[in-house]
Amino acid sequence: AEVAAADEWNGVGTTSDGLRVKVLANVGAPKDAKAAVEAGAEGVGLFRTEFSYLDATDEPTVEEQQSAYAAVLAPFHGKPIIVRTLDAGADKPLAFLAPDPEPNPALGVRGIRVSRERVDVLDRQLAAIVGAAQETGADVSVMAPMVATVEEAAWFADRAHAAGIKRAGVMIEVPAAALVADEIFGVVEFVSIGTNDLAQYTLAADRQLGAVATLNDPWQPALLRLIGMIGQAAIRAGKPAGVCGEAAADPNLAGVLVGLGISSLSMNASAIRKVGAALAKHTEDYFRQVARAALVSHTPADARATVHAMLS
Ligand code: PEP
Ligand code: MG
Repeated sequence: AEVAAADEWNGVGTTSDGLRVKVLANVGAPKDAKAAVEAGAEGVGLFRTEFSYLDATDEPTVEEQQSAYAAVLAPFHGKPIIVRTLDAGADKPLAFLAPDPEPNPALGVRGIRVSRERVDVLDRQLAAIVGAAQETGADVSVMAPMVATVEEAAWFADRAHAAGIKRAGVMIEVPAAALVADEIFGVVEFVSIGTNDLAQYTLAADRQLGAVATLNDPWQPALLRLIGMIGQAAIRAGKPAGVCGEAAADPNLAGVLVGLGISSLSMNASAIRKVGAALAKHTEDYFRQVARAALVSHTPADARATVHAMLS
C-alpha cells in the first residue's frame, strides 16, 4: 500500500509499515455526515442517534426514524457505519424515555438499561435502522451503549441479529465490561470503547464537572491500562476493538491506542486529517513502545510529555 507523506492524509489509515487502522467519524446529524465525507473519513465509528431526539417529547415513529437515519447514512455511499442505539439518560436525557427521579443519573437507568425496560422502543429503532440501511445501501452495524455485563451484550446481540442486523457490537465504557472483555467478544462481532464514559467511571469523576477534570483525563495511566486489556482481548478473539471517545481525536494519544491493539479510531471530522497523518509517521512496533511508556507513567502529564517526546 502507498504510504502517506508526513503531513498528508490519503484517506486510508495505515502505520508507516502498513498496519491498517480505520480512521472513522463520529456523527449525529446530516451536516456532520457531509463534513466527515469531505474530511475523508473511511466510514462512521459512532452515529449518536439520540442527538436527533434531545428535544422530542414523544418517541419518533419508525418512519420518522428511518428517514432521519437514512439522511445520515446516504452521504457515505456504502462505507461502513456503526449506528449506536439510543443512549438515553444522564448527560443525554430523552423526554420520552425519562426514568423515575434518580439520585445519581450517571449510575441509573440509562443506555442499554433503558432498552431492557423498553424493548418495544429498541425493536422499533432496530427496524428503522434496517429500513434506512436498505433504503441507502449502507453497510450498517449496530452497537449498544453503557453495557456492563456479558449477559447484556449477549441479549443485545441476539435482539439485533433477530432484527436482521449482521454485525452487532457493544460499547465498552463501564470498567466491569472491560474486565470481562474476553467473554464479551464471545457474544458480539466487535466492541467500541467510549473513553469519555470509561474515564468517568474508572476515575469516579463526573464528565460534566469541571472541578474533577484533571482526574477525568484520557491520558490517565489507569484508563490506558484498561484499554490495553481490551486491545489484548480483541487480538485473542480476532475481532476488532475501536475507540470512539474524544481520546481518538488526539494525534499522540491515537498512536498510543494503536500500540494498545486498537484497530479503528472514530472522531469529529475536524480531527481526521491530523490523526490520519500522525498514524502514517511511525511503525506498529514503535507505537507499541510508545504505549508501554504511557502505561508506566505516574500521571497524565508525564504520559503526555513522554509520548510527545517520542512522537515528535
Ligand atoms: C463515550 O462515552 O466515550 C462515547 C463515545 O459516548 P458519549 O460521549 O456519547 O457518551
Ligand atoms: Mg458514552
